[in-house]
Amino acid sequence: MIKLSNKARGIKPSPTLAVMGKAKAYIAKGIDVINFGVGEPDFNTPEYIKDAGIKAINDNFTRYTPTPGIVPLREAICKKFRDDNNLEYTPAQVLVSPGAKASIVFILMAILDAGDQVIVPSPYWVSYPDQVDIAGGITLLLETTEEKNYKIDPAELKKMIADNPNVKALMLNNPNNPTGAIYSKEELIQIGDICVANNILIVSDEIYEKLVYDGAKHYAIAALKPEFKDIVVIINGVSKAYAMTGWRLGYSVGPEYIIAAAGRLQGHITSNTNSITQKATIAALLQDDGSIEKMRVEFEKRKKFIFDELNKVDHVTTTSPQGAFYIMANVDYYLQNNTKGIKTDVELCTFLLDEARIAIVPGSAFGNGKLVRFSYANSMDNLREGVKRFAEGLKSLL
Ligand code: PMP
Repeated sequence: MIKLSNKARGIKPSPTLAVMGKAKAYIAKGIDVINFGVGEPDFNTPEYIKDAGIKAINDNFTRYTPTPGIVPLREAICKKFRDDNNLEYTPAQVLVSPGAKASIVFILMAILDAGDQVIVPSPYWVSYPDQVDIAGGITLLLETTEEKNYKIDPAELKKMIADNPNVKALMLNNPNNPTGAIYSKEELIQIGDICVANNILIVSDEIYEKLVYDGAKHYAIAALKPEFKDIVVIINGVSKAYAMTGWRLGYSVGPEYIIAAAGRLQGHITSNTNSITQKATIAALLQDDGSIEKMRVEFEKRKKFIFDELNKVDHVTTTSPQGAFYIMANVDYYLQNNTKGIKTDVELCTFLLDEARIAIVPGSAFGNGKLVRFSYANSMDNLREGVKRFAEGLKSLL
C-alpha cells in the first residue's frame, strides 16, 4: 500500500454521499424514490447546440486547440460580457476550461501560496472549501443568516479581513447555490469597495446568472465600478443555463496576468477543453432558438410552486430563492423535537429516504446542518408528490 498524500486524505467524502449513495441504490432496485438531489437541469441540450457539436465532429474538428480555447469562442465570450454586462474584455482575458469547477481551481492555484486564506461565505457550494484546499489555501467560513437571506454582511466581511492578515480572496456566488440568493447592486458595491480597499481578489462565480426569477436582476460585480475590474475574476460556464453539464465547459474572465498564469497551469493539467464542446458553445452563446428562456420560465414556475408548498409544511421555514434551481428548508424544529432520536441533518435525510422515499441533500454538505436542500430541476408531478411525502415524513417524527 502506498500512503496517500496529506492533500488526498484531507478531502473527505461529502455528507451528501450518505444519503445520495443510498438513494441511488434504491432507485437502481426499482424503488420509487423522488430525487431532489439533482444538481443539473432535467432538460436536454437544445438542438441547435447539439447540431453544432455534430458538425464539429463531421468537420474533423477533433484535434488539440490552443490551451485557453479557440479565438472565435473567446470572442463570443467577450461579446456576451459586452452585451449582457456592459463589460469590455479581450480574448487574452478569457480562459476556457473543462467546466467551471476546473476554472475555479486554476484561478485559485494561480493566486494562492501555502497559508493564504480565502473567505467562503456559508452556506457555500459544496466544492469551494475543498477547491481552496487543493489550491493550497486555507478556508475561512463567513457565516450568513436566514434573517439576512444568507447574504454576506459587509461589516462582518470587513471584520474578518481585519482579523486575518493573510486573506487573499473572497468566493462570491451570485446567484447562490444552495440558497438561491441574489445580491443587489448596492450590496455588491459594498462588498467590492471592501475588497478594493484590502487588495482582495473576488472570485465571482456567476454560473447561475441566466437562471433568475420574478424580475430579479443579476449584476456582474466587475461592471459596477471601474476599479472592481482589477480585482474580480468572473467564473461562468454553459452547464446550467444551456443544459450542457456533460459537455464540460466553463470559463474565467479577468485581469490578464491572472488569466495567463491560470492558463499556464491548465496547459500542463488538462490542455484545452474538448474541441467539439468549444464549437457547440459558440452556437450556444451566439444563437438562440428560444429554448433557454423556455427552460428559465419552467424553473420559475416550479420555484413558485415548491416555495408555496414548503411554506405550508408545519414548523419549516424557507427563504424565497431568486435564482439557480435550489431551495433550502430549515428543519431545525424537527431536529430538536422528534421521537426517533434523530439529531443531525444526515440522520433526518436518511430517515426521510428510508421512510418517506424522498432524497434531499443534508445542509451540512453546504456548511449548515439546520437546513436541507431541494433541487427543483424536477417535474411538477415529482415536486407535488415529493413535498407531500416530506410533510408526512416530518409529521411522523413528532
Ligand atoms: N459553481 C456552482 C455554484 C455550481 O453549482 C456548479 C455545478 N454544480 C459549478 C460551479 C460547476 O459547474 P461545471 O459543471 O461547469 O463544472
